[in-house]
Amino acid sequence: MKHSRRTGDFMLRCYECALYDKVEESVAICIMCGKGICMEHAHRIDLPIWEGGYPTPVKVMKKGLPRFVCSECGNILMPGSCE
Ligand SMILES: [Zn+2]
Ligand SMILES: [Zn+2]
Repeated sequence: MKHSRRTGDFMLRCYECALYDKVEESVAICIMCGKGICMEHAHRIDLPIWEGGYPTPVKVMKKGLPRFVCSECGNILMPGSCE
């Protein structure tokens, strides 16, 4: 059994690291822009689940599901929290 971990194309790289010529495997996807982001660049945000009074087929069970955004979007969503 071969596990080829060196097939770079299969790895989703951190977009922000790529900007600095670094290759880092991404651990999350920015929910805002869809970029791959590594642990270092992922920012956890707890978005409130919008609770409308209208009927929805899927019941939202959890509140404030953890989401990840890149630094760029994190700065937009939570100014000052991504320093
Ligand atoms: Zn990164
Ligand atoms: Zn983003």
